[in-house]
Amino acid sequence: MNNEELKRLAAAHGFAEAYFLPPPDFARHEDEPHIVWNTEEHPWARVSLLLVWSYAPYPADSRIPSYYINSNSSYHACVALARELEAAGVRLKRCELPVKALVQRYGVGVIGRNSLIALPGFGTRVVFQTMLLGKADGHGFSPEEYHVKEDGLCAVCRACENACPAHAIGEAGYEVEKCMRYYMDGADYPEWVYSVQRTHMGCEVCQAVCPRNAHIVPVEPPEEIKAAFDINALAEGRTKPARLLVGKNFTGNGKLQKEALHFLMRGEEGER
Ligand code: SF4
Ligand code: SF4
Repeated sequence: MNNEELKRLAAAHGFAEAYFLPPPDFARHEDEPHIVWNTEEHPWARVSLLLVWSYAPYPADSRIPSYYINSNSSYHACVALARELEAAGVRLKRCELPVKALVQRYGVGVIGRNSLIALPGFGTRVVFQTMLLGKADGHGFSPEEYHVKEDGLCAVCRACENACPAHAIGEAGYEVEKCMRYYMDGADYPEWVYSVQRTHMGCEVCQAVCPRNAHIVPVEPPEEIKAAFDINALAEGRTKPARLLVGKNFTGNGKLQKEALHFLMRGEEGER
């Protein structure tokens, strides 16, 4: 199998793009401090594979987190793809790679003022799944070259800064600990997050206003997704269908119920 064949297989699993980059050769990157990379650990690795899952948001007033639902779908697609590759004899390891650092270093995309990766054609509405690929009999993958240049948009735009409900973007740049996204994967959120949150499981405000995403039209969620995120059901603690959609790992400790209660307390049900 080679790069082109793997791209076709990835597309069959629902991925919109696949980038082939060198393995990380740095221990840590300031933008992704939670990923501590041991460069010695995978001497067999030849390629970092970045799989791109592209998605459209749901209307903001639905409060349904399209990102997390697609993240869950892309995770399962990646597991299925990896199984197929392994069955074909490909040496690989699914693991979290320092995507921001790789994307910047190898010219795959740009990092915006809101700290998000923007890819040509996809904007910031993407989920990455990653794995390392090695050399094995009959299989040869190699890094490719990419030449995306800084587009200069952030130099003349302040849309995300003006719209951020948490004031996480300002003169000092993007401040990760003020950003709601920073807390989503943890066991619970600080109280201030519940009080300014507008979407379940995070915040998509700076993506909604970003001109890099202007071509991506929000789509209506399917009925079963709407039902899973019914605010009254969630407020009553019936969260299982929604947890299955976004992944159980991120939704423990009654987070969805607490979010729904906060939305109701703020009277947002009447605005729908
Ligand atoms: S909204 Fe404007 S300033 Fe913010 S990331 Fe997008 S282009 Fe850059
Ligand atoms: S995700 Fe929300 S809180 Fe974080 S920078 Fe964007 S608008 Fe602000």
